[in-house]
This record gives sequence, structure tokens and C-alpha cells, in this order.
Amino acid sequence: MNKPLSYSSYSLYHICPKKYEYEKIQFLQPEVIPYHLIFGSCIDNCLNAALEGHPDPIHFASITLGRLFTEQYTIKRKEIWSDINEFLTKFPILCVTEELRTIGWKGEKIEELADYLLSKIENNEYMSENQKTALNLIIFYTAREKAKNIISLFYKHVLPIIEEVISVQRQTKRGIIDFEAKLKGYDDVVVLDNKTASRPYKLDSVEYSIQLAGYGAHTGAYVVFNKNNNKAKPQIIIQKIPEHNRNLVEDAYKDTEELIRTNIFPRNLNSCGKQYGQPCPYLNLCWKNTQDGLIKKEIK
Ligand code: SF4
Repeated sequence: MNKPLSYSSYSLYHICPKKYEYEKIQFLQPEVIPYHLIFGSCIDNCLNAALEGHPDPIHFASITLGRLFTEQYTIKRKEIWSDINEFLTKFPILCVTEELRTIGWKGEKIEELADYLLSKIENNEYMSENQKTALNLIIFYTAREKAKNIISLFYKHVLPIIEEVISVQRQTKRGIIDFEAKLKGYDDVVVLDNKTASRPYKLDSVEYSIQLAGYGAHTGAYVVFNKNNNKAKPQIIIQKIPEHNRNLVEDAYKDTEELIRTNIFPRNLNSCGKQYGQPCPYLNLCWKNTQDGLIKKEIK
């Protein structure tokens, strides 16, 4: 392996080296994509557009969320239910209802339809094409409303502390920096990463960040949007990153690169059952020796 290891690949290797081998060496991937990845990429695209001064960042939400209609994805009730109730039922959106009517829905309450369709997913029951389309529409509009909310929090609480945006999505040896900016009250250019999380980050999370130290940041920041509270102000943590920490992280990257170069990919069985709240997508391959649910990635 000659290419420098990015932060995401470094993390992947340390969750489980075998998982790294499956994804990066054997090019296997799950057939279906988790919803949270589609939503994450929607938010990234909207925030990038906002930083670049685009007049309508939410336009990029609609484009990215179009994937919900063309790709197979998995979703759990807990990921979307409170947002459906917050965004689609208290302030019903006429166009959702109208679109649902065009595919034959005659009900009155969107949350009842959503509840019924999500139960079908939970129970692994058959869904007709119209039912799948109805669920996709509900998730699309819910996610778009949530994205709008995040963008408005970004405009209200983050943009005012920025004096100048220096770069957006700059590629570095250790991955892509969300953005670099001059912030009010700071002399250094600050390297910032946007996150969404259910719990607040620790106040020293920047100082000990492998990701931000790996980018070579002297001053780094996390902007953390609260996943569960759509009204919460984003948490902004800005800290210096000591040279010692940057060197420590670079050494750790190099050690990991050496392990990969020498084909050391042991299984970390402690990671099989729980990864970001889900079982590992390669569980069947490791434990049942079947490639069901996996496909080989096309290499471009
Ligand atoms: S199932 Fe377990 S051992 Fe296999 S790749 Fe996933 S985490 Fe690693």
C-alpha cells in the first residue's frame, strides 16, 4: 500500500482489520446502504454550498436525497420517527399529501401511514411498489425539512463567527477537511469538521482528535449538530492541537500503514455485534461463511 492512509481508513482498520481488508483490498460492500449515510452526505453537500455562498443550499439536499428513490437503503424507525412527527405532522406539507394522493393514498394523517409502513419494515413484511414509493416520499420530505433546519442553525450560529472561508473540502494526505476558516478572535486559520451526534462532544475532544491532528491542524474545531434536538444550538469546540499530538497521530498512521503493507488483518471479534449501533455488515461472511447481502464494488 503506497497511498497514505486517510482518517476514515485508519478508523476502519482499528474497528476491525478484517473489515478493512474486505472493504479496501477485496472491494466488498453491503448491497444496501444505511439511510444515515445518505442523510450525512446530504448535509455535507448543503453545508458546503452554504460555505461557498450558494443562494439556495437546500437545492443540494433535494439532489442528494433523490438517491432514496434510486438506491436500496436500510432505515430503522428510531432514526426518523421523531423527525416525521416534528416536521411532517405539526406543519403538514401540502406537496407531500398531494404526491401521496397521486399514488392512491386516501388517509388523513401522514404519521399513521408512516407508522404502518415502518412497521412493515420492522417485521420484514412485503411492501407493494406504491407502499415503497410512499415511504420514500415521507422520508425524502422529512429529511429535506431536517436539512433545512440544520442549514438555518448553521446560518444563525456558525456563519457569524467566520471572518473568511479559506477552503471547502480540501483534500489532504489524511483525508478531506470539511472547511478551513479565519474565525473571529483567532489568529490561526482554523480547521473545522462538521458532525451530527446524539450527545454533546467532550470539551477536550479537539485536543485529542486523531482526525484534526492528522490534517496537521494547529487549531481545530468541531461543529456538532444535535441529532435529537432540532432546536439546539450547535456545539462549537475550538482548541489548539499541540505539536506533540500531531506527531503522535502521524506515528500511529505510519504504524498502521506498515501493518497493512505487511497484510496483517486479524479479526476483531469484539466489533462484530455493534458498530454505530448496528451489526457489522460482514457478520454473515465471518460467522456463517456466506456472501449474502454483499456485492463487489466496481472499480473505476
Ligand atoms: S464480522 Fe467481526 S470479524 Fe468480521 S469483519 Fe466484521 S467486525 Fe470484523
